[in-house]
Amino acid sequence: MSKIPLLLATHNQGKVTEIKKYLSSLPLGITSLHELGIKEKFEETASTFAANARGKGLFYARFTRGLTLAEDSGLEIDALDGAPGVYSARFAGEKATDEDNIQKVLALLKGVPLFQRRARFVCWLVLVKNQEIISEIEEKVEGYIIEEKRGNYGFGYDPIFYYPPLKKTLAELKPEEKNRISHRGKALVRLKKFLEKYLQDSYP
Ligand code: IMP
Repeated sequence: MSKIPLLLATHNQGKVTEIKKYLSSLPLGITSLHELGIKEKFEETASTFAANARGKGLFYARFTRGLTLAEDSGLEIDALDGAPGVYSARFAGEKATDEDNIQKVLALLKGVPLFQRRARFVCWLVLVKNQEIISEIEEKVEGYIIEEKRGNYGFGYDPIFYYPPLKKTLAELKPEEKNRISHRGKALVRLKKFLEKYLQDSYP
């Protein structure tokens, strides 16, 4: 089977590398926005992960006749009414670092007991073909925000996100361990299954 083009609708090189690894066994020619020289930036102004991912997917699908995959993800904390949510990357400001965002969360949760610090990471994937959404996948990982950072792996809010089944923060898990239980890892496994069947049915 000749390779079907799939455009990854993200400017985040980390996500590109991770997604390429998950889908590497499929007959796909995977390219990123960077590889295609696409500099246009989609403004993520929606209030849900779903709407941001759909918007991004449909926006960048204009640049390819193949498939386009978009992703939006973030952290929801119950005691903060779901914040930082879609603002996860820029919670402490447009130029905020991971550390700035973590410190803002910890300050807002100061004095809140552990049982009220429930949180989850959410990942929303959207697959687009010809300006039509052909698959949407949502996955979550549930945990708690602890009071101080633990672990050096990962990125973003991983050091303060405690995952009870393994009694560790996500930053204490090696990348393979995190991928097995993470919102994005689980979503990408489901996406791979969907694509295996879709490619067989659509390009026999
Ligand atoms: P996006 O690139 O707009 O999807 O931003 C997602 C943001 O959510 C990241 O910048 C992180 O702050 C946070 N986030 C998403 N997934 C994870 C994760 O697996 N670990 C830690 N933080 C995450």
